[in-house]
Amino acid sequence: MNNKHYAIIGGGINGLAVARQLLLDFPDAKVTVFEKESDVAMHQSSHNSGVVHAGLYYEPGGLKARLCRRGAELVKEYCLSNNIAYDECGKLVVALSQEEEGRLEAIYQKSLANKVPDVRMLNAEQIKEIEPNCIGTRALHSPRTAIVSYGDIARHIAKEIKQRNGQICTGRAVAQLTEKAGKITVHFDNNEQYDAQFDYAVSCAGLQSDRLAKRSGDIETPKIVPFFGQYYVIDSQFKDHVKGLIYPVPDPKYPFLGVHFTKRIDGQMTIGPNAFISFGRENYSGKKFNLGDVYDFLTYKGFWKFSSKNMSAALRELKTVASQTNFVQEAAKYVPSLASVSVAPATRGIRAQAMESDGSLVDDFVIRKQGNITHIRNAPSPGATSSLAIAEYIVREVMSHS
Ligand SMILES: Cc1cc2nc3c(=O)[nH]c(=O)nc-3n(C[C@H](O)[C@H](O)[C@H](O)COP(=O)(O)OP(=O)(O)OC[C@H]3O[C@@H](n4cnc5c(N)ncnc54)[C@H](O)[C@@H]3O)c2cc1C
Repeated sequence: MNNKHYAIIGGGINGLAVARQLLLDFPDAKVTVFEKESDVAMHQSSHNSGVVHAGLYYEPGGLKARLCRRGAELVKEYCLSNNIAYDECGKLVVALSQEEEGRLEAIYQKSLANKVPDVRMLNAEQIKEIEPNCIGTRALHSPRTAIVSYGDIARHIAKEIKQRNGQICTGRAVAQLTEKAGKITVHFDNNEQYDAQFDYAVSCAGLQSDRLAKRSGDIETPKIVPFFGQYYVIDSQFKDHVKGLIYPVPDPKYPFLGVHFTKRIDGQMTIGPNAFISFGRENYSGKKFNLGDVYDFLTYKGFWKFSSKNMSAALRELKTVASQTNFVQEAAKYVPSLASVSVAPATRGIRAQAMESDGSLVDDFVIRKQGNITHIRNAPSPGATSSLAIAEYIVREVMSHS
């Protein structure tokens, strides 16, 4: 019997998945989730592309490759057994030139190494059989890639946590975690503390994860640098020009993928997301400026090193930030019939992207244990796809329950 007391910081999909996994594995445990907002899943978990990634791109053997594959299976199972919408619409990664075909072949080989189901390479005519309006010289087709609403999944997990006698405390911003003689105290602002102590804590604080980790005695780097991603919804009359997901071949010159077509689970067709530095970690309107957040990245040497190495990428992204027409044109390279489609802006997402002090973006998931406190320090995309597998990994492998 395990009647230990666990604190989970952050009610995004990862924090909720960890809380659920603890209650599944240890039904007698006491699990308390602390979320600073008035509800769960108000940040990345409800501001993303909604894709259940099949695991095409990730370095075989890395955490992303392993947890994405397992996570995709678990998300599918969770949606189907809980009546949550799940659409296996499939995805094409499309090469437009011979040079891109070489890189596409490398992705195909990785997807085989990662055992992604049913992937195959298509020629130009075969592309038309899947996406009649799409042009390309070759494409990688992943028919098992799906779309969902991660916000809906997170809210369903929150209900399940309560049914399993877990507790979710919203409106509770945790300032710091301290550990003494194997007991963890949860501190809030104004010298306030939670009235019970905990045996273990898991911090899943997304865009605030580096700050909470540092205040709780973990190492300072990597730091979170926020990059927003803008989406546009295309005129609904034209949404059927694309059936599923159409992606470019990633270019190693650019740290982010470039805009693409993403079908939403509500049936809308979106273009996006681009990627540009955000003047606030939680600034979704793009109109405000958070002085503390901007000061944080401007005084980080990693940010300046990243910027100096990525000027051409910044320019590419800036074009899509500055002009809606450029944004649409980028995507229309793949579907020319949508070159002049009218679009309306949709809510942004803001990526919690970890950056090392040498300016490199951390690619793989980073999960660090320090004493009885575990910190998720980097969980970018496919972090939502992987959430249920990240939870299994943390509960069954990272945490020691001795
Ligand atoms: C633009 C964009 C597109 C993406 N597309 C996809 C995709 O298609 N597929 C995919 O798999 N992944 C995608 N991702 C990644 C995915 O959204 C994230 O990996 C995932 O949502 C991370 O979940 P999380 O719970 O770790 O973080 P979050 O959802 O950000 O949750 C963190 C929570 O912690 C809370 N919190 C923070 N600090 C404190 C504190 N001090 N005290 C209490 N609570 C605190 C926050 O309020 C928040 O609720 C995308 C992300 C972005 C931004």
